[in-house]
Amino acid sequence: MTPGRPVPPPLAQPAAPSTEPSSGGVLAAAYGATSPDSGLVPLTLARRTPKADDVEIAIEYCGLCHSDVHATRGEWGGTAWPLVPGHEIVGTVRRVGSAVVDFAAGDRVGVGCMVDSCRTCESCLDGLEQYCENGMTGTYGAIDRRNGDSVTQGGYSSSIVVDRRYVVRVPESLDPAAAAPLLCAGVTTFSPLRHFGVEEGDVVGVVGLGGLGHMAVKLARAMGAKVVVFTTSDAKVAAALELGADEVVLSRDEEAMAGANRSIDLIIDTVAAPHDLNPYFRTLRVDGALFQLGLPSEPMPPVNPGSLIRRRIAYAGSLIGGIAETQEMLDFCAGHGVAAEIEMVRADQLNEAYDRMVAGDVKYRFVLDTSTLHAPAKEAHA
Ligand code: NAP
Ligand code: ZN
Ligand code: ZN
Repeated sequence: MTPGRPVPPPLAQPAAPSTEPSSGGVLAAAYGATSPDSGLVPLTLARRTPKADDVEIAIEYCGLCHSDVHATRGEWGGTAWPLVPGHEIVGTVRRVGSAVVDFAAGDRVGVGCMVDSCRTCESCLDGLEQYCENGMTGTYGAIDRRNGDSVTQGGYSSSIVVDRRYVVRVPESLDPAAAAPLLCAGVTTFSPLRHFGVEEGDVVGVVGLGGLGHMAVKLARAMGAKVVVFTTSDAKVAAALELGADEVVLSRDEEAMAGANRSIDLIIDTVAAPHDLNPYFRTLRVDGALFQLGLPSEPMPPVNPGSLIRRRIAYAGSLIGGIAETQEMLDFCAGHGVAAEIEMVRADQLNEAYDRMVAGDVKYRFVLDTSTLHAPAKEAHA
């Protein structure tokens, strides 16, 4: 996901990471960046003492999203350092605050891309907390709106404390590691598929077969759609068919792109780098739509208005999903046997995993096993 809004630099000393937990709080082992060039290094976080509405979670797994790479490398600007990324969090409840009745110790739960929002604006009241008019609080790198002097820190960490309203339940039938990427990649693709009303017989195009893209393939298939994958990678053609795609188009092949003319109802574009959208508009039918989910740090080539006008095409964006929608997505995945394809990594493999992600060399989501956080590399500093 993308953080809600750029975070101004901390006014004084950043309150986190710190090595001193508040009374009743806990220290958490973590990996994070201390500057755009630092890579990820071992850090120690002080998690707050659970307040009345809080859930303290022992994190088991955290997916690696391309947004984590953008953020820790300072590609979006406005980053407050140090930064512990991670917003595809699955773990078990360790303890809850006095007002929490819907979660109990031992429950398997998840936290996605936000840990708070204003709770009072129209978007929040409509269950669209991701579009909070006052800015949602991202799981990492955002000013904690109820404790304004600290910056939120994410899930590459052994524990986290989150208000119960922003915690979801992970169904028992889902493998917890393969469920972690659902918290961002899953809901980010589920939300526009649902918003467009995808149903049996629709044709969904998926551009970019990475973390988000492979979830879009699985979810669109589970909704009954025919799926066409557009990829830049020859090596992914067979893998896309194995994942359930009905057709694969090599997007660098102009002839193949022309062959897909006017064949698609909805395109989910997940590419993390600038690219020309005009060839994709030509593959859409009348009243088709292209949802752009990727947020490249560089500007995109201009969109030709003629391609939109001539087929009443909608060019849209979409940001993650609301909390209720995230729960709906998890339940949908449990009901349809959908989860992410993952490659598990240890904490000391995180930097290599980032490089491989940028090179498109992952099938299809890396997931950090947080039990490996406790054996930090020798150059660790707290
Ligand atoms: P990812 O796993 O790295 O996948 C991106 C895919 O884009 C690659 O696998 C590759 O697929 C394709 N691609 C083509 N050219 C590329 C290039 N030059 N550089 C990088 N990728 C290229 O990334 P992800 O985690 O799915 O995230 C994708 C984008 O969505 C990122 O920009 C991320 O920040 C953003 N995001 C947005 C939201 C939201 O709420 N809107 C949520 C999460 C993530 P092929 O090899 O098949 O061409
Ligand atoms: Zn994400
Ligand atoms: Zn709001």
